[in-house]
Amino acid sequence: MHPYMNKKAALSTMHSKEQAIAEPFFELLHVSITVPKNLNTDLLGTFSGEVEREDTPIETLRNKARLGMKELGLPLGIASEGSFGPHPHFPMIAAGHEMLLWMDDDLGIEIVEQEVSTDTNFNATKVHAWQELTSFMEKVKFPSHALIVRSNTGFDRNHIFKGLTTEEEVKEAIQKCTSASEDGLAHVETDMRAHMNPTRMKVINNLARKLASRLAQLCPSCSCPGWGKIDVIRGLPCELCGLKTKQISHIVYGCPRCEMKEVKMREDGVLRASSTYCDWCNP
Ligand SMILES: [Zn+2]
Ligand SMILES: [Zn+2]
Repeated sequence: MHPYMNKKAALSTMHSKEQAIAEPFFELLHVSITVPKNLNTDLLGTFSGEVEREDTPIETLRNKARLGMKELGLPLGIASEGSFGPHPHFPMIAAGHEMLLWMDDDLGIEIVEQEVSTDTNFNATKVHAWQELTSFMEKVKFPSHALIVRSNTGFDRNHIFKGLTTEEEVKEAIQKCTSASEDGLAHVETDMRAHMNPTRMKVINNLARKLASRLAQLCPSCSCPGWGKIDVIRGLPCELCGLKTKQISHIVYGCPRCEMKEVKMREDGVLRASSTYCDWCNP
């Protein structure tokens, strides 16, 4: 029997992320996700910048998971974090970096799964008036995806409006923010909080499935959950000259608790790299 069968895990979220996480965890592990009621994860920093984030993303995740575990008195916890910006390799495209952390105080392990996805509506613009927003709104999937409006200059708690999902709300917010802003501009951005952003919720759901599948795998040596990919080995030989390229040749699997490791060929069975990746054939 899997050690997590019928266990409860605390999910620290104020943004209904259980909608994305509970189902894969129950389906793949029979773990029930419980959300603590008295939680202010905004203390750990928010997307809209009211509280400066000071920790690294992993630290933030750990602290967040601990908040919920403490509140519910559970040894198992889960927390999610996302950040958005230009894609690391294709800066013209927006991308979301989602991270999901699993913490088990009984076994003393933590596992992080992450994903960089271009499946995001992340975007921002500046406008003088509501009429200038028409094409932006279509692009960012308003109104199924909410907006945040704030004055373009200064930071003023009274001139930031979040979770806007109707034209009336946006109009009113833009009026207030343009008149409060020194340059007459309102800053309009996508609301990336999960409960305001179905696209993001879907990405978190995929990641939760990935994490739950990994937790379902037990270490062949100590039976700890979470056996999975921990590293890759590069050096796939070039198809023409046979020299090592920077392409992946092997995958390293490992246990989150013991030293057990296994090196396997890459999963797609590819044995040679295209000469496009060869420094010798294609410098
Ligand atoms: Zn092990
Ligand atoms: Zn070559």
